[in-house]
Amino acid sequence: MKCVIVHYSEIGTKGRNRRFFEKRLTENIRKITGKATLKNSRIISGTKNANKLALIPGISNYALAVEVPSKLPNIRKAVLAVAKKSKAKTFRITATRSNKNFSLNSLELQHNLGRSVRKKCELKNPELEIFVEVADKTYVYGEKLRGPGGMPVGSAGRVVCLLSGGIDSPVAAYKMMTRGCKVIFVHFHNFDPFMTKIKKLTEILAKFQGKSTLYLVPFKEVQAEIIKKTDPKYRMLLYRRLMMKISQEILTKEGALGLVTGDSVSQVASQTLENLNVIHDAATSPIFSPLIGTNKQDIVNEAQKIGTYDTSIRPYDDCCSVLIGKHPATRAEIKPVKALEKKLKIETLIKKALKKKEMVVI
Ligand code: ATP
Ligand code: MG
Repeated sequence: MKCVIVHYSEIGTKGRNRRFFEKRLTENIRKITGKATLKNSRIISGTKNANKLALIPGISNYALAVEVPSKLPNIRKAVLAVAKKSKAKTFRITATRSNKNFSLNSLELQHNLGRSVRKKCELKNPELEIFVEVADKTYVYGEKLRGPGGMPVGSAGRVVCLLSGGIDSPVAAYKMMTRGCKVIFVHFHNFDPFMTKIKKLTEILAKFQGKSTLYLVPFKEVQAEIIKKTDPKYRMLLYRRLMMKISQEILTKEGALGLVTGDSVSQVASQTLENLNVIHDAATSPIFSPLIGTNKQDIVNEAQKIGTYDTSIRPYDDCCSVLIGKHPATRAEIKPVKALEKKLKIETLIKKALKKKEMVVI
């Protein structure tokens, strides 16, 4: 029988809580492939949508395998089929045995099976490695494919990600998913009623965590008020502080435990350490920026890997890029910014924006 054998790594270090993480990962895989069962520290999944497992948080590696009864003749047949299918000239067999009732130990099994394969055995750098895992059933496969590792989505709780139309924040959201977080998205907009690009990004990210909630918050009125009443130098920072305050309210409503942004130190003018201090001061919950020390090219590579890049680079005027001052403050101090904020009817602005927000489930 064809199946997919899934291995995890980090979950394995979890001691007494391990069952909880294993169950969560099994459920997440079942949602994608329709079939998944936990068996002896591995998950046996159906083959439907198997290619999607490459990006499922918690999976260390997976392989298309055949499941056979744990009997030597059946195992041999499966091994020979894998060997025959491959063009490789050299091979090795790597066997593991969790079923201690099986008559041969793993070393004996490797030798026994290896003698039947008509290729050159090469232990150090074989072109083909055939894996044999003997449990209640035995699983035989030729190639392990890598997953992202980390923890299964939903095992760590919820966070609220400020999702712009850019390259960085979708990657930041994905990174948090690989640490077990369920991510709720918030986007601030001031013009596009259809939000096609943002919905598309959420759709791509939903492939990794399943059902995803996206809040679309109108920001035009907030910006108009800031533009009218404050120094252009500080506009961008005030936009971002207001985004934090509104997101903070959504976090409370959602029972989430942190805000997430795609910030990376020094990448753009708004991301000097000084400005990040001014922005982060606006929230009461912790702000997690998993890309904070990542270089742009590495973020781009990651965006390409997870499939958000092509959508992210489509033209879209983020509301932050609208009407910012000609010379925005790059090393702002908190005092003058807070003084300017006093001129705004902040509570009313936040309430209004929240009242007009839309919620989409993707
Ligand atoms: P990104 O590529 O994620 O847009 P960026 O390098 O363009 O990031 P900024 O535009 O300064 O940097 O934004 C920094 C972070 O602020 C973003 O990563 C995102 O988390 C948040 N952000 C910016 N604009 C918006 C928006 N319109 N809606 C929601 N979050 C936003
Ligand atoms: Mg941006």
